[in-house]
Amino acid sequence: MNQKVMIIGAGISGLTLAMFLKKAGMDCAVYENFPYKRVEGSSFRINKSGVHVMKELGIEDQAQQNSHSADRMRILTTDDMEIASINLMQDSVFSRRSIYMQRSDLVEILMRQAELDGVEIHYNKKLTHFTQDASNITAYFEDGHQETGTLLVGADGLHSTVRNQLFPSHVLSYAKSWGLYGLASFKDMNSDPIRHLMDGDELFYFTQNANFLVSKSNPTHELNLSWQASGYQERKRSKEEFEFRTLDEIKSDLIQEYGGNGALSEIIRNSAHIIPKQIYSVDPIPSWSKGRAVVIGDAAHTINPNTGYGCSVALEDAMYLAKMLKKHHYTDALYYLEADRKERIRAILGSLDIFDVSKGFDFSNGFDIGLFSGSKIDANYTIHWETECL
Ligand SMILES: Cc1cc2nc3c(=O)[nH]c(=O)nc-3n(C[C@H](O)[C@H](O)[C@H](O)COP(=O)(O)OP(=O)(O)OC[C@H]3O[C@@H](n4cnc5c(N)ncnc54)[C@H](O)[C@@H]3O)c2cc1C
Repeated sequence: MNQKVMIIGAGISGLTLAMFLKKAGMDCAVYENFPYKRVEGSSFRINKSGVHVMKELGIEDQAQQNSHSADRMRILTTDDMEIASINLMQDSVFSRRSIYMQRSDLVEILMRQAELDGVEIHYNKKLTHFTQDASNITAYFEDGHQETGTLLVGADGLHSTVRNQLFPSHVLSYAKSWGLYGLASFKDMNSDPIRHLMDGDELFYFTQNANFLVSKSNPTHELNLSWQASGYQERKRSKEEFEFRTLDEIKSDLIQEYGGNGALSEIIRNSAHIIPKQIYSVDPIPSWSKGRAVVIGDAAHTINPNTGYGCSVALEDAMYLAKMLKKHHYTDALYYLEADRKERIRAILGSLDIFDVSKGFDFSNGFDIGLFSGSKIDANYTIHWETECL
């Protein structure tokens, strides 16, 4: 029987899945809510399992040229006192390193490559709902268009329409933390920490209620420095207090509350973009699929962006689903996707308390060097496209 896979969402997991399905010779098309438009803003860490997926996809060189990968992280107080300098134990081979990259650069690379590979991408197509029977599944879009295929994949992110239809009682809830994501340029900044940054180190600033990770970003952009801040907030702030603040207001709030007398204030003051996000999550869903509909990436498991795992896991899900569909009937493919991937996701979600540093640290108790110990995450987790093993 002819298979046609309909992928909802041209984000990280949707485009990756489509390219691997093309490699497997399978018929697929991607449907994306928005018109394609580059959105400047946030960078994220991609762990080595995610970078390896890029290698298998053939976009390793483009990823390397458009990202930064530090060997060392310097941990500082907001007055630039260095508390520790950590060797990040990076490999010499790019595809076995963790990197820092702008989300919009990765989406652009994936989109360009997908188009070269002949992937059909339909923009301005917002899925509203779907219906399914024993042999087909039909997707309905807001513009009245409908499309029928054999499988529908919800790669439609945190606010997934596919997940909402499959599990309507699993709604998003506020995860008691906030994030701010900024971009700046090195020019006009010249203090010691900035020089360490220019040399390629990451800076990590701890305060009692928040932390800031600062890194070099895409070396080809004028805004070649990016930072990510996260903090604990018991009660969600109103939009007026957070999302609707102007750039200048956010800068002044941050400098007043956390800036200190060092380079962090300078970086915040020089930022050209800052995106405010309050963090939401959904309780684990009972199953990732029902019949001919399945969810992957953030639609299947919301991983707090402050942990640095969301993007890598979305890349892994996409590659693993394509690998299973290449070999198996879709029912088995969906079974193996969930059976083989759930343990990894559980380990990552279970380690959030260790990895989510949004609560900041109280230095009166000393710096806990064992911060990242005790996690059950397999640091060497790698999926290979051609071989049997993960
Ligand atoms: C500000 C920010 C910072 C982050 N920082 C990190 C980090 O440091 N490290 C990390 O690993 N992860 C981070 N993440 C998370 C990471 O971006 C996601 O986990 C990852 O992109 C998941 O990919 P995805 O394919 O599941 O979803 P997305 O990449 O979000 O793609 C979903 C796509 O579906 C489309 N869509 C949605 N609904 C519909 C619909 N009804 N019809 C059609 N299309 C639809 C959307 O427009 C979007 O293009 C961050 C996220 C944000 C927002």
